[in-house]
Amino acid sequence: MIYRLETLVRDAGFCAFAAGNLRQEQAPVAPAAPVAPAAPLAPAALFPPSAKAVLLCALSVPADAAREAPDAPNISGGGNPEGAVYGEIAPFARYNCYRKAVKLLQKIACKLGAGVQFSKSDFRIFCNSRLNEKALARSYGLGSIGHNGLVITREAGCRCVIAGMTLPFALTDETEILPDFAFCADCGANADCVASADCGANADCPENMPPCVRACPTGALLGGGRIRLSLCIQWYASGNGGEVPDAVRRVWGRRLYGCTLCQDACVRSRNTSPAVPSGEVPYGSEAAGTLPAGVLPRFIDAQKILKMSDSELKTFFKGTALGFSWLVPNALRRSAALLTSSRLYDIIKS
Ligand code: SF4
Ligand code: SF4
Repeated sequence: MIYRLETLVRDAGFCAFAAGNLRQEQAPVAPAAPVAPAAPLAPAALFPPSAKAVLLCALSVPADAAREAPDAPNISGGGNPEGAVYGEIAPFARYNCYRKAVKLLQKIACKLGAGVQFSKSDFRIFCNSRLNEKALARSYGLGSIGHNGLVITREAGCRCVIAGMTLPFALTDETEILPDFAFCADCGANADCVASADCGANADCPENMPPCVRACPTGALLGGGRIRLSLCIQWYASGNGGEVPDAVRRVWGRRLYGCTLCQDACVRSRNTSPAVPSGEVPYGSEAAGTLPAGVLPRFIDAQKILKMSDSELKTFFKGTALGFSWLVPNALRRSAALLTSSRLYDIIKS
């Protein structure tokens, strides 16, 4: 059965997979995070009664080619005549990799008998959901937890989105489960030092830090997979927290949505996924409406975001990763305001 599942997920386009029989009683296995306590692996209420096994998949996310924002001072053609302040959307969100992963799993479910031999609801698909997907992925062998707190897969490192679904039949064999930090052990860093330290003073000992920890501009990564969420840009960009602390504001940069620095720095993520072609999404194409459905441009004018009403924002981002109900309009406005003030600060400095 594992072989058949592997054929299906590879043919669909996933880069990694794992599968095993349901083990809802298993304790959470993700390393303890000081701010976010580990959630149960899979609350029983979120799985259909027919669930017998779980399939976990990883979809590789394109890596961004370096490119400056359209309003950068050295952009040819005068840069930014309209006074726009462009914010950037990370590839995993702008290509709506979540939605793509869900659609691929729906196709796999059909091939496994959804709607024929089984009911479609027997295949409960989850992606960016309330489930502790990271712990599930680790628990079933999709990858190993890394020092950046992400699931590191053999095939794409941690530059991937995780999705999965329940299966209404038991498996006769299961994928191998990897120990935590399996891929971090030979990454060239003194991981033991970081994994055991909780001093937060990581700037004092850069030579001891893994690349991912070193790449985090706020010091949010504590090593050993632990993240101080109150310092994580991605956490705030997702609408969490109240006032954004100065340590985060100072390094917010251009981000309208998404911080991927600790992913990008991971030695296991390098050269594993195709770079986004530099000409793929032209500047200003959001106005031209030339992008495929669900895909956002890399840069959007933050001033526009700040001027839009709630309903205008919902309409603008409908069908994209920024149109999800959990990402409230005020979260986008806060990011737009932060990047605007960050840009203005840069102008004043220069
Ligand atoms: S997402 Fe950004 S801020 Fe958060 S831990 Fe990673 S590098 Fe640090
Ligand atoms: S950069 Fe190294 S230590 Fe950090 S997650 Fe990747 S492999 Fe692990």
